Amino acid sequence: MLHSICENIKQIEQEIGNIQLVVVSKYRSLDELQEVYNCGHRSFGENRIQELVQKEKELPKNIKWHAIGHLQRNKVKYIAPFIHLIHSIDSLKLLQVVNNEAIKNNRVINFLFQIHIAEEDSKFGLTPIELDEIIHSDEFLAMKNVRCLGLMGMATFTDNTEQVKAEFSLLSNLFNQNKTAQQWSTLSMGMSGDYKLAQECGSTMIRVGSKIFQ
Ligand SMILES: *Cc1c(COP(=O)(O)O)cnc(C)c1O
Repeated sequence: MLHSICENIKQIEQEIGNIQLVVVSKYRSLDELQEVYNCGHRSFGENRIQELVQKEKELPKNIKWHAIGHLQRNKVKYIAPFIHLIHSIDSLKLLQVVNNEAIKNNRVINFLFQIHIAEEDSKFGLTPIELDEIIHSDEFLAMKNVRCLGLMGMATFTDNTEQVKAEFSLLSNLFNQNKTAQQWSTLSMGMSGDYKLAQECGSTMIRVGSKIFQ
């Protein structure tokens, strides 16, 4: 039986309790996004900046837009005026650009550091050691227009649940080790295929696309 978009969102929200749901709307039409909006949902995730900017122009202004994909430095300026949360900061240089664009827009931009936890080389992110270096660097401490809320990561795309759990646990441990000192609140991990495992491992925010629009 086919379920509506609203029913799918409701079902996932029931399963995840206090965890925040970001509806990943990449490749979806404006009509489909409007349908999600009409269900009362306000957090949308996009991984391509051009598409994100185009959709932001067309849709209601109280949507919270999440940039979840790899972010190029020359694209930051397009989202700086409105972005709610950037999930994919993977270098100090990129963060420097975000801070500069935030200054130009007279705002503070919230972000997550993306950590590389998967086996696949294709996935982006910092190693735990690189994270440690950045958060204790003078450059980072001097940035006043960016605020780190926590971490994001993507597990290996595999049926091996033990492997996915091990990767999520690694991320969760890294989050817990730093959250008090860094005042972090947000651990973004879990997608359509693995959000239940992510929930078991302490996720506070999941990013789900295909399971909602199927
Ligand atoms: C596409 C995407 C998702 C959602 O994936 P689904 O499997 O469709 O739920 C989550 N996070 C990122 C970074 C993505 O690019």
